[in-house]
This record gives sequence, C-alpha cells and structure tokens, in this order.
Amino acid sequence: MTWPPAPSSRHRREHPPSFRHRRDRARGRGNFATGSPLEAPAVRHPVTPPATIGMLGGGQLGRYALIAAAKMGYRTIVVDPDPSAPAGTVAGEHLVAPYDDPHALRRLAAECDVVTIEFENPPAQALDDLAAATLVAPGPDAVRVAQDRIAEKAFLVDNGFPVAPYAVLDETGTVAPGSVGAVDGPALVKTARLGYDGKGQRRVSGAAAIHAAHAELGGVACVVEELVELRTELSVLVARTADARAETWAVAENHHVDGILDLSVVPAEVDPVLADRAAGLGLAVADALGFVGVLAVELFVAGGELLVNELAPRPHNSGHWTLDASVTSQFEQQIRAVCGLGLGDPSMTAPAAAMVNLLGDRWAAGEPRWERVLDDRRAKLHLYGKVEARPGRKMGHLTVTSEVTSAAAAHALELRELLAP
Ligand code: AMP
Repeated sequence: MTWPPAPSSRHRREHPPSFRHRRDRARGRGNFATGSPLEAPAVRHPVTPPATIGMLGGGQLGRYALIAAAKMGYRTIVVDPDPSAPAGTVAGEHLVAPYDDPHALRRLAAECDVVTIEFENPPAQALDDLAAATLVAPGPDAVRVAQDRIAEKAFLVDNGFPVAPYAVLDETGTVAPGSVGAVDGPALVKTARLGYDGKGQRRVSGAAAIHAAHAELGGVACVVEELVELRTELSVLVARTADARAETWAVAENHHVDGILDLSVVPAEVDPVLADRAAGLGLAVADALGFVGVLAVELFVAGGELLVNELAPRPHNSGHWTLDASVTSQFEQQIRAVCGLGLGDPSMTAPAAAMVNLLGDRWAAGEPRWERVLDDRRAKLHLYGKVEARPGRKMGHLTVTSEVTSAAAAHALELRELLAP
C-alpha cells in the first residue's frame, strides 16, 4: 500500500450486513502464568448487550467508554491499579490490580466477551494472553506498533506514509538512519516508549546535544526527529470494525502548550482539500494496521504537506468534543467498533465546537468557581473525578459550540479564564 491512496478512497465504508467476523466460543481459557495451553480464540461478533466488556486502564478515556457501554446495556469490568481511577466509579466492577496480574486477566478472559483498552501501554504479553481466550480489540499487534515510536515510524515508512525525517538512537547511543538519514539541525529526542504529553522529550541541536539528551533520558532507545516548522497540528479519529467498515469525524485542529494539548477546534480551519486528505490518510493508516476500535492519527501540517506525528490506539483527547457536538461520540463508537456493531453517525450536531483542557494547575487556589461556566448555556463542563490536582494533570475539559470555529475557540478560552486562578 502506498500513500497517497487512489482517488476513489472514501471516508466511510460499508460492507454487506451479512459479512461477519466469526470465531468459535470457548471462554475462560488462556495462558495467564498458569502454563495451560493456549486455545483457539473464542468469540463471535457482534457482541450485543448484556454481554460483558473488559477495559484495561481506568483513566478518563476508559470512564467515558464505560459510560457509553453502560448506556447501551453492557456489563463492564475495568482493571486499574489505582483504587481511585476515574473509570472505577462508573464500571460494573473495578479490579484494583496491575495490568499483568494473572488473577485479574483470568477474570477478564473468563467473563468478558470483548476486552479493549484506553491507553497504549498495557503489557503486550497481557493482551496476547487475553487474545488467546477472548476477543481483544484493538489487536495486540496494532497496539505493539503504537507502543513504540521506533516500531511506529518503521510501520509508517514501510507503508509509504509521510513522517518527519528521523533517526533511531539505540540503548548504546548509536545513531542509525531512520527514514531519511541523519538529523543535523534542530531536533527532538523522544524516548521510544512510555512518553506522553511531551514527557520523555528534549530539544537538541547537533550530535553532542543528542548524546547528552539521550543520557538525560536514561539511555533508553529513542528517536531523533527533525524539528518541523509546524503551520498547524491536526488529528483524525478513525473508528474501524473488524470487517473494515470505517468512519471519521470532522478533522480537529489542535494547539499545545508545553507539549500538552490545550485547545482543539472543529472543523479545523484549514483548506477543505487538506482536511479531506488528512481524513483519507487516517483511514489508510487504520486499514494498514488492520485496526479495530478508535484510532487517533496525529498530523503535522508543514510546508503545505501532511506528516504523521504519532498514533494513539484508543479514543483521544482531541476527540472529547464528540461527547457534546457529534451524533455519536468517539467513546460510543469505540464500543460499537470493538463489539462489531454498526458504526454510528459521526456528523456534528453544531457548525463548530471547541474543547479546552482543564489541568491541575487551575486548582492552585482551591476548587475553581464552576458556577461561572455552568451558568453558560453553550458550555459543557466535564470533570474526571480525579482526587489529586497535580500541575499538568488532565482533570477535566470544557466544550463550547458555536456557529463558527473561531467564535467557539474564543468563547471556550474566555470561559476558562473565569475559573481561578
Ligand atoms: P508528541 O508527544 O510526539 O505528540 O509531541 C508533543 C508535541 O510536541 C506535538 O504535539 C508538537 O506540538 C510538538 N512536536 C513533537 N514533535 C515535533 C517535531 N518533530 N517538530 C515540531 N514540533 C514537534
């Protein structure tokens, strides 16, 4: 598969309703540190209520997905080691355990008709073990790719998708050309694994700085990525089923502060042709991955061209607006996709929407004055129920709808300023 795709590429695909992904049902098996033999995968699509959905990870993304699942009549079990995880209070059951806990995984395998994720870093082995016993979506191989920037970039380059020039830095500090050779000018060193919200990254210029950053980041495997002159950052969210039906929402335009998403606006204020190409690119990436669930494809616009920054194998912060301004939210769509149901309508219910994040810094002088935003007819406040408000921690968000994108953004930013401090 190469990029760009043939002009016939569409942003919505249907297969005949008779096409079903089928597997035999034989539950409660697997290899959860018990030495028992792995057996054939064992679930049948579609997974319909009141079946049980398992979730690895209990953050805000899991919270909204489980609320969507509960509304549709599913039972839910979440695994998260944090007893106060945001999804814990909305799940049917919260197993407070590490993600590789054999007892918790055995429970998921035995009781869940499908298991999904809400963050990219559950141990891949845990997903493999679960996949031997029940349906796991997205599949472990797709998650593995998104867990590691080196694997992710190799996947993108191998499939002809555009990325910023980069090199690979291994544990010993040896630099190997990645896409297009060495990176000599301003660059970012990013840890291959476990980086998020700008964490695990250093700005550098030149070989000495690259090696110093590598040491500072703990000498782990990294990518060195050319610092791109960004015009705009976009994200495309794709929902895709096992039988390759797919939908995207309006492309979002994203603004970051200190590497953390601050503001998303939809529809992105870019040339509609570019937005269309971005959506097509997102769909093509999801197809190439054989992805099942909701995939976020983060894009840079540089010199009029699209570059893929990174992939998130789950709903995404830049899709939170879909909770309040789309016929089908990204979370309901995740449940529909992993259960093999028909996908919902991703159309916007307002001409424009903006979402601003509420970080823990806003709690510096105590609980913000929520009534100031709750009084506003066009604003929707979301708080994730996190107990501790640390600086930089995502505690909630605010969504505003309007007639045009710029007005929605201005309104959301103004409202946020009304909150102390
Ligand atoms: P990441 O964790 O890779 O998504 O990076 C966080 C943010 O840092 C991105 O959303 C961009 O704003 C910025 N960034 C990351 N990589 C680059 C790059 N190669 N060039 C310019 N800015 C970047």
